[in-house]
Amino acid sequence: MKKIKGSCLCKNIVFEIFNECRYSVLCHCTMCQKSNAEFSNYTKVKKENFKFSKKKNLKWFNSSKNFKRGFCSNCGSSLFFQSRLSNGEIAISSGSLDSKVPVKGHIFYKDKKSNLTFSKLHKKYSQSAQGF
Ligand SMILES: [Zn+2]
Repeated sequence: MKKIKGSCLCKNIVFEIFNECRYSVLCHCTMCQKSNAEFSNYTKVKKENFKFSKKKNLKWFNSSKNFKRGFCSNCGSSLFFQSRLSNGEIAISSGSLDSKVPVKGHIFYKDKKSNLTFSKLHKKYSQSAQGF
């Protein structure tokens, strides 16, 4: 069984992904700009393939009508993005993982703030998280 581990900076939140970690996308939406950095890098897995080993200090912030963001209230690491409706999936900040995940493309590219170019990533998604 393929297993990928991840954690926040202070390791009060530790988790594992089993059998799955397809790819990640760079999200340029204005909410990620505020909560992560100029853009975020998320991978998404089924909840059944995700397990917390430790979740001390895990807090959820309802960032919009339909979505919430999970973070560590001790070290401030922004870790998760999840639908508030239960759709059985959880998006995980790729930077929190102890393994590399290939970046496949972009979402909300029109909102991109950085002047960085991403010449190796030709695939761009529209103004939605659907391509994720
Ligand atoms: Zn932490």
